[in-house]
Amino acid sequence: MPLVVVITGPSGVGKGTLIAALRERVEGLRLSVSATTRAPRAGEVDGVDYFFLDRDRFAELVEQNAFVEHADYAGERYGTLRDELVSERSDRAVLLEIEVQGARQVREKLPEALQVFIAPPSAADLRRRLEGRGTDSPETIERRLQAAEAEMAAQDEFARVVVNDDLDRATTELEQIVRGALSETVESGR
Ligand code: 5GP
Repeated sequence: MPLVVVITGPSGVGKGTLIAALRERVEGLRLSVSATTRAPRAGEVDGVDYFFLDRDRFAELVEQNAFVEHADYAGERYGTLRDELVSERSDRAVLLEIEVQGARQVREKLPEALQVFIAPPSAADLRRRLEGRGTDSPETIERRLQAAEAEMAAQDEFARVVVNDDLDRATTELEQIVRGALSETVESGR
């Protein structure tokens, strides 16, 4: 199995943007495609951004133990399919962009996975980002901000915390962490 890298932190903190920037700088990082019950946003493509499933199908996959981790988040279900962790030879690492409950499950099951918590510079900044990206209704934003309080409290569980104060700076920090873990993986012959 390649190195598994979990990128977690509250919704709206910029995990997706950071991951995209990281993947431009480091080759061979595959992004795991999650399953979710939430509706696609404009421009999102099934099988690319997510596997969009109805609640029955999601429950069926849970029953079949098809998920490495799954969580209820802001009224919807999200999960990482085991199949997504099966690697191609060209993968140096598989990235999971997931919320905190899922990150905890991965920590239990795959303690060797690298886990990085992305934190906002402030709570006000997180609200600004969620409102600014214009993808969610006001109700959804409130739910996400509520969830963010608990997620921010979980920050201390993570040895690696990157504050997303500036995209370029935060990407460089994340890149150093990932490159460090990749070279350790190679050295230990895994
Ligand atoms: P969004 O609806 O904004 O795409 O995602 C909401 C939250 O769910 C984000 O924090 C995102 O990282 C997280 N998420 C996405 N996929 C998964 C997954 O497979 N498992 C878990 N636990 N969280 C996920």
